[in-house]
Amino acid sequence: MTEKTIFELSSPGRKGVEFPAVDVPTTDLPAEFLREDLPLPELAEVDVIRHYTHLSHLNYCVDEGFYPLGSCTMKYNPRVNEAMARLPGFAYCHPLQPVESIQGSLALMYNLQEMLKEIAGFAEVSLQPAAGAHGEFTGVMIMRAYHQSKGETKRTKMLIPDSAHGTNPASSAMTGFEVAPIATDARGNVDLAALRAACDETVAGIMITNPNTLGLFDENILEVIDIVHKAGGLVYGDGANLNALLGIVRPGDLGIDVMHFNLHKTFSTPHGGGGPGSGPVGVSDKLKEFLPGPIISIIEEGDDEMPPLFGYYQPKNSIGRVKSFNGHFGMHVRAYTYISMHGAEGLRQVAELAVLNANYLLSKVRGAYKLPYDRVCMHEFVLEGMFDDVPDVHALDIAKRLMDYDFHPPTNYFPLIVHEALMIEPTETENKQVIDSFAEAMLNIAREAHESPELLHEAPHKTPVRRLDEVKAAKDLVLCCWLPENSE
Ligand SMILES: *Cc1c(COP(=O)(O)O)cnc(C)c1O
Repeated sequence: MTEKTIFELSSPGRKGVEFPAVDVPTTDLPAEFLREDLPLPELAEVDVIRHYTHLSHLNYCVDEGFYPLGSCTMKYNPRVNEAMARLPGFAYCHPLQPVESIQGSLALMYNLQEMLKEIAGFAEVSLQPAAGAHGEFTGVMIMRAYHQSKGETKRTKMLIPDSAHGTNPASSAMTGFEVAPIATDARGNVDLAALRAACDETVAGIMITNPNTLGLFDENILEVIDIVHKAGGLVYGDGANLNALLGIVRPGDLGIDVMHFNLHKTFSTPHGGGGPGSGPVGVSDKLKEFLPGPIISIIEEGDDEMPPLFGYYQPKNSIGRVKSFNGHFGMHVRAYTYISMHGAEGLRQVAELAVLNANYLLSKVRGAYKLPYDRVCMHEFVLEGMFDDVPDVHALDIAKRLMDYDFHPPTNYFPLIVHEALMIEPTETENKQVIDSFAEAMLNIAREAHESPELLHEAPHKTPVRRLDEVKAAKDLVLCCWLPENSE
């Protein structure tokens, strides 16, 4: 790595701040806090600003360019969300304040619960979970609590289509369920025969993502839900792909019993390195009593003179808290702002444009890449990142080569049922020029794969670091590459 650390930039005696003369009596520090030597870097303010600003420019982010990371819905995060989250009344209130003094924040959370209920067709929503996977865990705990309340302790099996996100089997296993994978049929739907065969008296439910991770709306969704319900199971909806359905289909109306929302995907709150997520859970009437609390409610109705008084309630047979206080409140403010700014019509347009953009992009690259399930897609699609006539080119090479064209790579090697998967989600926030230039890069890369495959194998060529051992980089994260000379 050629980047200098802040310690290497240090120069003895250089200072960033000048403290004013002390105007209070001084005292000696306790001896145990003193040390001989404290090797901190010595720099001027401008050196520090330039160093960190430079490092920040090495990052790729959605504010800088197209981010077609399938399944992650990396849409642009509107600045108005940030402005609202920074309003002092929201940013500085404390969850331990008396409810009378935080009525504005409680009203916002209450209204967000109401909006999510209406958008997805559920009877109640808890805003507690911290992210999608945490919402899954919460939802699966609710399913377990429901079966236990009916004395149905034999229901230990969770059905999970083989296209599912890895968090689905993980959430089920963590909750003590045994995971039974269900095959996908040739059109990319849940295989109904396999589903019927797996549905017996031990089924607790199914975790289903619709549109699924192939970017396809399950054509038999009503039948899937009916089969599981008739077997006495519940249906968990993985709401990560709700972006394609906003204002068009309500998961609750389809018969889904419990679902998480990814506010950081569908409702444009920042994610990845950009901030914490938020994974509220919505449920149908029969699961309301098991939700984690506190849930925001009206504890005293208002009238012409007085607004209602908001407070908390704990559902009767709640699985308990899953997060401290109210969850990630700053994300609630951002999502509330996004939903309010769009309104019902605007949200529907979000879904329509997300689907249109994905199909437009697909129409441009179809033919140059193999499309294992060739149907009209929803908000994303999955290609095979391989070519029969150049077998040593892999999805990873294509993903890395895209970085040389200044694009963030798409999701790759997921879903697992597609060979060398490249999962592409343009989102509704990209314009035609961006999508056209991305399509052109994809077509160029397909040509390069045949004409000069070494360009792909050696990619990326332009980035500050080249090909990393990604597993090691994630599992063995080194955040401080500098150690003082005398330390071991
Ligand atoms: C992103 C995603 C999840 C997990 O959500 P997180 O917020 O990342 O925990 C689950 N399922 C699908 C299909 C997803 O795309």
